Amino acid sequence: MKGIDSTMETICGHKCDDARRTGKPQATRERPEARDRDGFATRHKPLAGLAALVLALIVPSAFADEATFAACMRELRGSAPSKGVSAASFDRFTQGTAPDMTILPLLDHQPEFRTPIWDYLASLVDEERVAEGLSRLEQWRDTLQAVKARFGVDPYTVVAVWGVESNYGQTFGKRPLVTSLATLSCFGRRQAFFRGEFMTTLKILDEGHVAPEALVGSWAGAFGHTQFMPSTFMRVAVDFDGDGRRDLIGNVPDALASTANYLKLAGWRSDEAWGFEVILPAGFDTSGAGRKNKRPLAEWIKRGVARADGKPISGPPQAGLLLPAGPTGPAFLVFRNFDAIYAYNAAESYALAIAHLSDRLRGGSSFVTAWPTDDPGLGRGGRREVQQLLLARGYQIGEVDGIIGSASRAAIEDVQRQAGLVVDGRAGTKLLEFLRKSAP
Ligand code: CA
Repeated sequence: MKGIDSTMETICGHKCDDARRTGKPQATRERPEARDRDGFATRHKPLAGLAALVLALIVPSAFADEATFAACMRELRGSAPSKGVSAASFDRFTQGTAPDMTILPLLDHQPEFRTPIWDYLASLVDEERVAEGLSRLEQWRDTLQAVKARFGVDPYTVVAVWGVESNYGQTFGKRPLVTSLATLSCFGRRQAFFRGEFMTTLKILDEGHVAPEALVGSWAGAFGHTQFMPSTFMRVAVDFDGDGRRDLIGNVPDALASTANYLKLAGWRSDEAWGFEVILPAGFDTSGAGRKNKRPLAEWIKRGVARADGKPISGPPQAGLLLPAGPTGPAFLVFRNFDAIYAYNAAESYALAIAHLSDRLRGGSSFVTAWPTDDPGLGRGGRREVQQLLLARGYQIGEVDGIIGSASRAAIEDVQRQAGLVVDGRAGTKLLEFLRKSAP
């Protein structure tokens, strides 16, 4: 499928911007909706004191944003027919849309690149996600077998994508897509890209695949069980249950089949492994490492690379050596199918999370080699315990949900300061141990 690869980086570039890459639960990582929906309605009411002062400072920029948005939407409406969206449809689906300016700070936030990989993997591939995945494999067994028969992608990989992208359909994101993409079409960088996604969103609604009120997703516009961008939807989504609609929000078979189709179009080879963990011999020269630097499998074997689980090395003829945490951390030989997963959302940490979760669902174990840290990451269970202990110490961090948001992070920094730990707001094993020891 030529054409897919050439657009992959662009698509992914935006999926990558999306906070979802820290493991999704995109919705849960976002701050609660901060937009004051009544802002414009109330601004002329008499106000006193501080509120009036604050409003006086805010209103001019709100006015400016409102005017910019209105002009931008007029322009988009004018170009809609040339993009296949009638003016009537444009009006119907954008009626009453106001910009959501809380999205813009998220546009430049790329948590993947700041989160240590051991934290990232610990939360994405924890015991809860493995257990839940096993139950989904059972629940959707027939559908997953039919998906495998048609697209050649195994149930474990499809379910692993599902688990990482939306926690098996439990965290879709809560932001109305039309609002998010209209905002990103009119403000911030990459407006050209988001205008395309915005128009495509209107087409999706026009074609009736999903009801307007159900079309919610991440702030960047990824939606549904496996978080497709609208343009990805148009190119890749399939109607697997045959009801005439491609529904990635309300229909699990459509979503799972569309995910498999994505991987297939990205080059997935049926019945090939993504790769496996390996052990490098002492003194191994790692200068040739890299996912893209594929070398003959025989060459790696000759150089003394061995599978971590002791099985003989076999697989596709070419493999790259992936060292996600450098030469002293876990090492992996990765094949073409790892690249297909990578295409879903261009980050090696992300691809490794899906690959590892798929292995865990197959009955595989955790990595043999430890991450090069003396302060390992915590799964969601450990993170919830951190939050409970913070609450017990009187920190107002909100709900115990296993998601370390800004309030939890600030509380953690405070505790770290008191404890003489590195002050980084990170919920790791050392912090948890300290909180347990010193619990009130
Ligand atoms: Ca369908």
